[in-house]
Amino acid sequence: GGTIGILGGGQLGRMLAISAAQLGYRVIAYAPAGDAVIAQVCNEYIASDWHDAEALKAFADACDVVTLEFENVPAAPLDAIADKLAPHPRALAIAQDRLAEKRFVADLGGTPAPFHAVDSREDLLAGIEALGTPAILKTRRDGYDGKGQWRIGSREEAEALDLPDAPCILEGFVQFECEFSVILARRADGTVAFWESSQNGHEDGILARSTLPGAAIIGQQVAEARKLAKAVADKLSYVGVLTLEFFASESGPIFNEMAPRTHNSGHWTIEGAATSQFENQVRAICGLPLGDTRRVAPRVVMENVIGPAAATAHEALADPAAHLHLYGKTDAPEGRKMGHITRLEWPEGETSS
Ligand code: ATP
Ligand code: MG
Ligand code: MG
Repeated sequence: GGTIGILGGGQLGRMLAISAAQLGYRVIAYAPAGDAVIAQVCNEYIASDWHDAEALKAFADACDVVTLEFENVPAAPLDAIADKLAPHPRALAIAQDRLAEKRFVADLGGTPAPFHAVDSREDLLAGIEALGTPAILKTRRDGYDGKGQWRIGSREEAEALDLPDAPCILEGFVQFECEFSVILARRADGTVAFWESSQNGHEDGILARSTLPGAAIIGQQVAEARKLAKAVADKLSYVGVLTLEFFASESGPIFNEMAPRTHNSGHWTIEGAATSQFENQVRAICGLPLGDTRRVAPRVVMENVIGPAAATAHEALADPAAHLHLYGKTDAPEGRKMGHITRLEWPEGETSS
């Protein structure tokens, strides 16, 4: 028993809360008022501002451990509840900032996409000079699903671009064969478990699909990528689930970004692995032994249900291999993650009956 606090109210928190309930924990969620889809599945939902230090403290006091499903929580107010937080706020401070995370990873021997800090037009043009085109300008903070990113095809485009009013980073465009992520769970005692790396396909900057097994090149590069992910986790004395995204390139795995939490590319683990990323997050933060992470079907495919497609998503269940998850969001604009479908596939002719 015990009480788990979750910062954030989105679908990652919702699936985490379901796993926590399965293991017998009470869940209190804390997130600003809004479309908190976690509210339907947790014991208590506190709708409060991230900056309300008093409310945060009261929330943490009511919990045995606090974790997060959303990393863009202002880091400063979290210092007061750091002793309850898993992962520690130091991991957030790095993962919130694309510049900090690339430097951190480079210091540990990883290879990030070539980058240049951009705080002005001058910086941008110097970055274009150094990295060439095409390049991608990204806000250092707060981006997700490809939001806060601008592809730049030429110096002229860089001169004409309406610069965002926020610190940015310019990245050289990485020529990659495919994308994959490393997702791990780490306990306070340093025990680490990795899930198999899926091949991740993006459409319009949003994850569309994760496939297992992935392309052969992922198998060739995953050991190096895991070594880096473990070094990151060890360096931060990380507790919980950590994700690193990579490009599989001709010259090896190129680090893209990290997330101090479960990841969309790990949703396949709910039915497709012996233990899901959500269950192992609960186990890690509660000091329980980690569960077996191995894949349980010959082929697993996870597809996101995005925007208006949610209205007809139940049709996917005509395929008995399909598992549907809908997140309970009421508004389904274009580009919003509404749910996902995971298919466990066996070779033709092998049936269960
Ligand atoms: P997420 O939802 O994963 O947090 P995000 O908004 O943080 O997304 P990124 O992961 O930085 O965005 O980029 C989204 C996608 O855009 C990447 O998965 C990749 O397909 C493409 N991309 C981003 N940066 C680069 C790069 N430097 N070179 C080539 N492609 C890139
Ligand atoms: Mg991101
Ligand atoms: Mg990403």
